[in-house]
Amino acid sequence: PSPTNDVLMARRHTSVARGIGNAHAIFAAHADNALVWDVEGRRYIDFCAGIAVVNTGHRHPRVMSSLFAQAEHFTHTCFQVVAYESYVALAERLCQLAPGEGPKKAFFMSTGAEAVENAVKVARRATGRQAVIAFEGGFHGRTLLTMALTGKVEPYKSGFGPLPADVYHVPYPSEVHGITLSDSLSAIDRLFKHHVEAARVAALIVEPVQGEGGYLPAPEGFLAALRELCDRHGILMIADEIQTGIGRTGRMFAVEHSGVVPDLITLAKGLGGGTPISAVVGRADVIDAVPPGGLGSTYAGSPLACAAALGVLDAIEAEGLLRRSRTIGERLRARMRGMAMAYPCIADVRGLGAMTAIEFCHAGQIDQPAADIATALKSEAARRGLLLLTCGNHGNVVRVMVPLTIPDEQLDEGLDIFEASLAAI
Ligand code: PLP
Repeated sequence: PSPTNDVLMARRHTSVARGIGNAHAIFAAHADNALVWDVEGRRYIDFCAGIAVVNTGHRHPRVMSSLFAQAEHFTHTCFQVVAYESYVALAERLCQLAPGEGPKKAFFMSTGAEAVENAVKVARRATGRQAVIAFEGGFHGRTLLTMALTGKVEPYKSGFGPLPADVYHVPYPSEVHGITLSDSLSAIDRLFKHHVEAARVAALIVEPVQGEGGYLPAPEGFLAALRELCDRHGILMIADEIQTGIGRTGRMFAVEHSGVVPDLITLAKGLGGGTPISAVVGRADVIDAVPPGGLGSTYAGSPLACAAALGVLDAIEAEGLLRRSRTIGERLRARMRGMAMAYPCIADVRGLGAMTAIEFCHAGQIDQPAADIATALKSEAARRGLLLLTCGNHGNVVRVMVPLTIPDEQLDEGLDIFEASLAAI
């Protein structure tokens, strides 16, 4: 018989690094679409989609058949050594899908952090400038440069320095937290006046909806204002769509809601349908500023992941998952808003497309975050068969990121468990 969760947790504590956190004390045995079973045979509805990854569900048939078909032929040649068509086909698809009229190009990496690192590398090479503007509360990864870009210090940055220099943070506007669009824009003005000349800034990196930062959608006009500011100063605009992209917000790319065209977009998570792949897609002239050999990595854009990603894009198109993402979000938020009437600890319900957040605060006061309530809810829900996750930077914000392929009955069953758990804690 397979070991129990407790036995595996004990083994984990002995041999696996403590720095790798864990949201749930369970071990997976099997997963199918929006369901996960643990090693003890317990069934869970997955409101985390892994970690915002399986937008097309666990083991989507199109993704699996594409992956298996590739595995029958070869699993690795390294695109830099012996190329393969699926890499090119995926680049073509993303260039077609990405917003913007001019010539575009794409290249692949394995993780989100690598995509962000490489987008910044490209921007520096293309502009000949060094500085980068990022946002407080933003999250871009755990490598040295992406740690520097990430806004929050604990637990991501503290003790890991020195971090790369020339990274500047400004506030991300959020109506619910009282930060206006003009607060953010005037912080950038002050930055240019006092800390870094605009002419030294290579790139500005922004999440169209802050993910780990609390599922905060960019307010109306914000991305357009950043676009205008970047154009005015010759700064390249990078949209980090690692969490928001591939249909999570009801569009293939979240920037499409605003009509803003970034110079570069980073993607990961949903792209590979559960296989490790990330991408940078954007202006061909910017991406091609890097000469041959300046980009790449042994496993980057592996044939298995490229095949899976093509299956993901096919599934999104064939099953109308962008529309489905919007209806899921509406259904989730309608139910959550109903719960907010009954539970004053729910201080805010927000989101874009399927990306939905519930912010817990003591007495409904936004300045009194209640991470204890969110933590208790997460454990109680797991006990009842629902997997939930909080935002990395905000332990009081529960984020719902269901597979876009979840059937309505399971969505409702998950919401029932959510509500029953809330009543029980
Ligand atoms: N950027 C954003 C917006 C993310 O949400 C994440 C991961 O949560 C990353 C970058 C880092 O991606 P990865 O964990 O694949 O390195």
